Amino acid sequence: VLSRLSEPYLVDHYSFIIGASIGICQYPNDGDSFDSLLSAADTAMYRAKTQKNDYCLFTDELRQQISSTAKIEQALHGALANSELHMVYQPQVTDEGKLHGVEALLRWRNPELGVTPPDRFIPIAEDNGTIIELGYFVIEQSIRDIVNFRKSYGFSEINLSINVSIRQFQAVGFIQRLEALLESCNYPPQQLTLEITEGIFINDFEYMLPRLDEIRALGINLSLDDFGTGYSSLRMLKDLPIDELKIDKSFIDHITESQQDKTLVSSILSIAQNANMRVVAEGIEFREQSELLTELGCGIEQGYYHSKPIPYDQLVEFCAKFK
Ligand code: C2E
Ligand code: CA
Ligand code: CA
Repeated sequence: VLSRLSEPYLVDHYSFIIGASIGICQYPNDGDSFDSLLSAADTAMYRAKTQKNDYCLFTDELRQQISSTAKIEQALHGALANSELHMVYQPQVTDEGKLHGVEALLRWRNPELGVTPPDRFIPIAEDNGTIIELGYFVIEQSIRDIVNFRKSYGFSEINLSINVSIRQFQAVGFIQRLEALLESCNYPPQQLTLEITEGIFINDFEYMLPRLDEIRALGINLSLDDFGTGYSSLRMLKDLPIDELKIDKSFIDHITESQQDKTLVSSILSIAQNANMRVVAEGIEFREQSELLTELGCGIEQGYYHSKPIPYDQLVEFCAKFK
């Protein structure tokens, strides 16, 4: 069916090509009524759509995944009210061995589901909108923690990086609430960085730009997370109001063996330098990687080599050696 459908159609001397995504299910395995079969086929079709121009058979694995997603989605609604969320912080260290800051990362433990990793629940929260509530929790909790940390332990300059999803930017009053919070906590906006991913610009470049400008006008920094894995072109980079690039872990993983990866990271560093951006390398696990990155001129490092993401109490301990 797919190959037949994808033959060109000639309309008024123009040749058109269309694709299709096909979901397939079987009676009686996948359902015993028209509605349940249609829903199974529909589910398989959405999976096929992720590949585009493909087909997908409904399977038990798909069914399980959907039921697990439904459970997560259900449980997420009560996560905040039931105090199931907490923050951890991953230190960022400069090439001179000083503490640059921390990235705030969200953790969720539910009595029934146990610990669900953020890679799994954040996309679901983005889909059902709970990310807006969760996002405010992340921002408020981490700013309070860092304010407390600065006061109690005398770190006057420590940057806080927070991951922000596009849905949060789109929420009415997001920027105002952020501004009010910084003011009420007396937190310097220059020491706050919002991390966004390239995906944020795919659909709504024009919509996002003024919002990002507004955020920067407050003095807050913007960082492009997972840089190099998405869609940003160099041209886009030039137009973006961005202060920091985070080089994705996938470029760092083989940097000590792969000349190609080393060259790539070097190129990213010189682009950033020309555009006056600071660079954070992510996912550094070994001393050799750290040494090479310093040699290449990368200013800031984050990864298990320096520290895993840790709760507030351990952060205090970890940072004591930087005083
Ligand atoms: P991310 O922003 O790219 O965060 C970095 C992830 O890499 C974290 O995973 C961190 O634990 C992990 N990581 C750091 N260093 C190393 C290393 O040396 N080796 C390895 N193998 N991994 C390392 P985590 O905490 O599971 O977060 C996964 C993703 O979930 C984050 O990726 C981010 O996209 C999302 N996320 C986490 N917290 C939040 C949040 O509060 N808000 C939003 N919107 N997204 C969040
Ligand atoms: Ca991040
Ligand atoms: Ca990242």
